[in-house]
Amino acid sequence: MAFKLEYLDNDNSNKNKAAKKRNKIFKTVKEIQLLYPDSEAVLEKIFTTRHLKTDNRCPGNRGRYCRKLVSEYKKMDNKLAYRCSCGLKVYPLKGTPFEHSRVPLKSIIDIMYLMFNSKHGLCATELQRISGCKYETAHKILCKISDLMGLCVLSVPFKSDSIIEVDEVYPKIHTGFGRGHKYKRGTGSERTQPVLVFKERGGITKGFVIDNVNRETLEPLFEKLVSKSNVIYTDQHKVYSFLKLLMYNHVSVNHEKREFVSKEDKNCHTNTVENFNRFIKTSTHRVHNGVTREYLQTYVNRMAFNNSFKDCDASEAISKLIDCLPPLFQNGLRRVKNNPYQAPEWQDAA
Ligand SMILES: [Zn+2]
Repeated sequence: MAFKLEYLDNDNSNKNKAAKKRNKIFKTVKEIQLLYPDSEAVLEKIFTTRHLKTDNRCPGNRGRYCRKLVSEYKKMDNKLAYRCSCGLKVYPLKGTPFEHSRVPLKSIIDIMYLMFNSKHGLCATELQRISGCKYETAHKILCKISDLMGLCVLSVPFKSDSIIEVDEVYPKIHTGFGRGHKYKRGTGSERTQPVLVFKERGGITKGFVIDNVNRETLEPLFEKLVSKSNVIYTDQHKVYSFLKLLMYNHVSVNHEKREFVSKEDKNCHTNTVENFNRFIKTSTHRVHNGVTREYLQTYVNRMAFNNSFKDCDASEAISKLIDCLPPLFQNGLRRVKNNPYQAPEWQDAA
C-alpha cells in the first residue's frame, strides 16, 4: 500500500482566532514529507530514538562479549535491519506495533498525519479510498496506530497540582443481537458501553472503556492516575462518593438541580469533559457508523490523543508517537489474544 499525498497549501481563512493560530502552525503535507522523505528516513528516526533509551552498548552475538557502540551500527541493504560488526542484527521495528506490518513506513507516517489532521476521525473506508488498499489492511493499520496513541497518552502523567474533570459517557455500540432484541433501558443497557474520561484542564485527556460503573472498577483507575493534591470535579453521580472517603480533593456540581457551574466557585464545572464526551458519542455513531465493544477502546484512544495534543503541530505529534516506543532490545506491545478488550501494555522480553 504505497500512495502519495498532495494537497494545496493552507489558506488560513478561519474566523475563529484560536483555530486560526493553530492552523497557521499546523504543518502541511509538503512540510511533513520534507521531514520524512522516504521509509529509510523513518526507520533511521525509529532506530535512533529507540537506541538513545539504552546504554548505547551492543549486547553481543550468541553469548560472545561485544560492548561496541550501538550508534556505529550499519544499515543493511534491502532489509529493515541494522548490523553490528560482531554480526548481531537488530530490527528496529521489533517490539513495536508495526513489527509484522507490510505497509511501508512512509505510508504509516502519512496515515498518522491524516489521523491527527482529521477533526472528526479518519474511518477505514476513507483511508481505503485514498490509498487503494483493502478495507482490512486500512482497518488494521488504523488500529495499530491507535494502540500507539493510547500508549502515548498513558505515558504522560497528570501534573501534580492541576484540575481534573471526570465524567462517564455511554456511547451506543453494535451488539449483534438483531432488530427484534428487547434491550434494557437506561444506564445498564447492553446497547451502550460506559467509558470513563479524565480531562486535565489545559492538558492531557485519558479515556477508558469499563464494564461497570462502580467503585471496584473506578478506584484502581483513580489510584493509578490521580494524586491527592489534584482537584477533582465531577457531576452528582453517587459512585464518586468514595473519593471523599479516600481523602481526595473532590468537588461536585449537581446537574440534576440544573446547576452546571457551581455558585460558590465559578471555576467549578465539568463542561470541558462534557464537550469531549459529546465528541465520543457523535464520532462513533455518525462518522464510524457504530463501533463494536472490541474496538471501542481504539477509537477512544484516537480521540483522546487528538484532544490532548491539539495545541501541537503535526510534526510534534508524530515525533511524540515515535518517542513512546520502548528501548531497543526490548520486546514491547502485544495484544492479549484471549481478551481483546484489555488495553495493550508494554511487556518485558520473556
Ligand atoms: Zn556487537
